[in-house]
Amino acid sequence: MISIKNVSKWYGNFQVLTDCTTEVKKGDVVVVCGPSGSGKSTLIKCVNALEPFQKGDIVVDGTSIADPSTNLPKIRSRVGMVFQHFELFPHLTITRNLALAQEKVLGRSKDEAMTKGLALLERVGLKDHAHKFPGQLSGGQQQRVAIARALAMDPIVMLFDEPTSALDPEMVNEVLDVMVELAQEGMTMMCVTHEMGFARKVAHRVIFMDKGHIVEDCAKEEFFGDLNSRSERARHFLSKIL
Ligand code: ADP
Ligand code: MG
Repeated sequence: MISIKNVSKWYGNFQVLTDCTTEVKKGDVVVVCGPSGSGKSTLIKCVNALEPFQKGDIVVDGTSIADPSTNLPKIRSRVGMVFQHFELFPHLTITRNLALAQEKVLGRSKDEAMTKGLALLERVGLKDHAHKFPGQLSGGQQQRVAIARALAMDPIVMLFDEPTSALDPEMVNEVLDVMVELAQEGMTMMCVTHEMGFARKVAHRVIFMDKGHIVEDCAKEEFFGDLNSRSERARHFLSKIL
């Protein structure tokens, strides 16, 4: 579904990604972790073509992002993205937040978009909040709306960038529960998160990044198995968060 091939990226003289290579197969749940500043957000934004890269290629469902003739907005519309900060439109109701991109990008009718939005709102447990504005919801609720909004576009893959790290602790699980459910339904997911409970429960693979490199990329069982077989940097990182 996603093939990242020897991707390197610079911000000016600063190399933020160095020769990153990995794959996410259909139905795979891949957790990306690593220290702050290691390039996790940058890598995931490259997959969604939100950030350009100077070397290598990323192929999403057979379409090359590096190919200049590729229609990038079309790729973006098929790749769901959920950020740390929910980025809902504050001046629009939840219903309109859910419907807008469906109408503008996919050309769905108002009715169709609303029906789809409401069904997804029910799925994330927020059916009764449809008429509210984002500011009237808790952080955890807003993040569940953001997930529903991404799902409304019928994405072929979902990218998450630390979706729970801005939440109060008591709200983390309500968001993780939605993500676990998605994973168990077979959604292809690439998740930047330090929630290792989530990784243990549903990840197929864990990628560990450090200083712009993919240092580890292995099956979950292996990643959490014998810590002594992890790289020095991954062990150091894990010793702090486990
Ligand atoms: P992570 O998500 O792992 O914390 P990021 O991908 O956000 O890491 O950032 C990786 C590095 O790139 C950091 O050193 C950060 O300061 C730098 N960086 C991120 N965005 C920019 C930018 N727009 N311009 C310059 N440097 C950036
Ligand atoms: Mg980040």
